[in-house]
Amino acid sequence: MNARSLFLLVFALSLTACSQPTETYDRTLYTFGTLATVQIYDLPRDEAIEIADQIELRLSVLNRDWYAWGDGELGQLNRTLADAEQAPVSDLLGSLIKRSLELRDLSGGRFDPAVGSLVELWGFHDSKTTPVRKPADQDIRSDGSTLGVSVTGENGSQIVVTGRTGIVIDLGGIAKGAALAECARLLRAAGARRALVNLGGDLIALTEEGGPEFRIGIQNPRAEDIAGLILASDGEAVVSSGDYERFFDSDEQRFHHIIDPETGYPSAGAVAVTVIDKDPLLADAAATALMVAGPDAFYLVSKDLGIENAALIDQSGTLYLTDAMQARLVDARARGDEAVLP
Ligand code: ADP
Ligand code: MG
Repeated sequence: MNARSLFLLVFALSLTACSQPTETYDRTLYTFGTLATVQIYDLPRDEAIEIADQIELRLSVLNRDWYAWGDGELGQLNRTLADAEQAPVSDLLGSLIKRSLELRDLSGGRFDPAVGSLVELWGFHDSKTTPVRKPADQDIRSDGSTLGVSVTGENGSQIVVTGRTGIVIDLGGIAKGAALAECARLLRAAGARRALVNLGGDLIALTEEGGPEFRIGIQNPRAEDIAGLILASDGEAVVSSGDYERFFDSDEQRFHHIIDPETGYPSAGAVAVTVIDKDPLLADAAATALMVAGPDAFYLVSKDLGIENAALIDQSGTLYLTDAMQARLVDARARGDEAVLP
């Protein structure tokens, strides 16, 4: 069992009180380096199987194309950028990189898709192995500003321009969010109105208008209890980042996979962050950026990114909540549904 499944942060339960689904279809798969589940509540079984097949296939293509060190498009792009300052890119990947650069700017560089060479240096690029030792301090230097990186050109002829060679673009901080958006699109196109997709603790909920929300338990990352409960309604993504997902301990210090681009070291201060937003890609980038922001810049960076619902737990277990998130946590508790929890 890997660290991720041991410490799976978010689990979800469907509220069944209001409507009893006629059909529930469940698919478990392994993708994006993690376990994923697709739950479809309101389609006949054969249709649900068909759409789950489509999702499974699409996720495997996206995982291949968006993985920075593989054989897919992003891996090839990075191999080109090793010795070139520009390279052509498909419209889909180009738009994803473009969006991630906008989010870099909005987050004050805390989320940065050009963090790839640092991720590689720390050994967090290979999801199958966990690094055991910290790199030498003199080798850890921040790559400096990546402001020169941009995506230009019209659809059909976009290029990534880096301004220097050796830039490694890593979309690991938004790939699952972008993939959740694609899952939601496929589910809606197939007519599903009630469904839940969970990519290793990052999830998206589809609910019918006025139908029951999904109840999401947010687990305390350092204990066996629930840090909070929230209700997710149609189109909302609940995305978490934490220092418990991929990490190693050395000299009684924890080194994890979210790197502060300014220092070149794993971010300090925050232990876990959960963000809720209707834009899963934004939620994913924000969760990563807020880990880097830590408690001091939590409110500022949430605001700059336009995130209303965010929670952060720091090293001492203190919970920081935006106003909207605080109201939602209270709401969920006030419903008195805790008995539904396992
Ligand atoms: P996970 O994908 O494990 O749920 P995140 O969404 O926070 O968690 O993404 C972490 C991944 O993002 C890392 O494994 C790495 O590939 C990449 N990454 C690490 N630090 C940053 C950063 N500061 N900005 C953007 N991406 C990052
Ligand atoms: Mg993220």
